[in-house]
Amino acid sequence: MNNYIDLESRYCARNYHPLPVVLTRGEGAYVWDESGKKYLDMMSAYSAVSHGHANPRLVKLVQDQVATLNIVSRAFHTDKLGPFLERACQLTGQDMGLPMNTGAEAVETAIKAARKWAYTVKGVAADKAEIIACKGNFHGRTTTIIAFSDEAQYKAGFGPYAPGFSLVEYGNLGALEAAINENTAAFLVEPIQGEAGIVLPPPGYLKAAEELCRRRNVLLIADEVQTGLGRTGKLLACEHEDVHPDGLILGKALGGGIFPVSMFLAKKEVMDVFTPGDHGSTFGGNPLAAAIGLEALNILVEDGLAERSAELGDYLIAALGEIDSPLIRDVRGCGLFIGVEIDPALGTARTACELLMERGLLSKETHETVVRLAPPLTIAREDIDWAVEQIRDVLTEMDRLRLAS
Ligand SMILES: *Cc1c(COP(=O)(O)O)cnc(C)c1O
Repeated sequence: MNNYIDLESRYCARNYHPLPVVLTRGEGAYVWDESGKKYLDMMSAYSAVSHGHANPRLVKLVQDQVATLNIVSRAFHTDKLGPFLERACQLTGQDMGLPMNTGAEAVETAIKAARKWAYTVKGVAADKAEIIACKGNFHGRTTTIIAFSDEAQYKAGFGPYAPGFSLVEYGNLGALEAAINENTAAFLVEPIQGEAGIVLPPPGYLKAAEELCRRRNVLLIADEVQTGLGRTGKLLACEHEDVHPDGLILGKALGGGIFPVSMFLAKKEVMDVFTPGDHGSTFGGNPLAAAIGLEALNILVEDGLAERSAELGDYLIAALGEIDSPLIRDVRGCGLFIGVEIDPALGTARTACELLMERGLLSKETHETVVRLAPPLTIAREDIDWAVEQIRDVLTEMDRLRLAS
């Protein structure tokens, strides 16, 4: 038995079911295990490693910053936070930002902002504010956030659940319209549902939702923790439909694949609800995080990573579409954010991921049926060609094993 896997299974809470590989090094789109075997990372930590592992510009910046100033708390100003927020606002079209560390914390921040906006600006009666989210959503794992998940396992055993949320069918504008009432503070939505299995809403949905929210005085809050920062081929997935949300949640790739960095951004009238003491985080906006976040944003723009994602994503989707396998039920995605849906009658996504791992390609299933392909945006075209070959061969192998059994 492998010692590191033994140690984790002995001492680590069993809240994950990792593939049996022990990684020790990463560079660009590759990671290596302890025996020196090389893998192509087609998962990139759920899109947190869009810049590639150990991105040289970020490594250099971290080395300098770590030796200079790291954690001081927001009890003081620093020379790093302002420039980071300014750049984040410039690039996203938002007015102000509130820095956090993890995605879930930024979602919590958005919920607080929306509620306080509802009471102080919209005039909703005390403690009556409601936030509408979508079925199939994923916004994180805190006790408040799981209250509006409809994934049974995320909730079971963790009640009682926070009130003030309702769910509507994703992609259904009529359902959203019917759910809005005088207490509705915000509509919280992922432009593409990642954890649900790379689910794209019908074209025009997000734009229509934006218009509906404006008309009904409801905040539109886009959770772009996963879809943002180039993943779908635009800097923000909202840009595909020229949507300008009132609040925007970023995380994952904002940390450049090195550090947890997240942010809630919003229009001034929303962010202005916060006054000193309302909300905070010991680590949120620390100089190391802010320096990394700023460099991560600059690299995205200067290296054209969103454009790369659009081009290589189209290329990968087309190549996957040419695989002739009865196991493939659907190939869908936007940019390098792609799901390959496996027919559950013929095989599982987990088996596909295990066989891909043996061949040196790392990915992870979402639910039982979807293989997620979301490599670093820096991935080379040749690596994509290689990945497609491995996927084709694994599906052929699964089909053969199925027919033989
Ligand atoms: C990952 C994710 C989160 C939560 O981020 P954490 O850093 O894991 O807390 C929230 N929203 C979306 C859309 C995500 O993909």
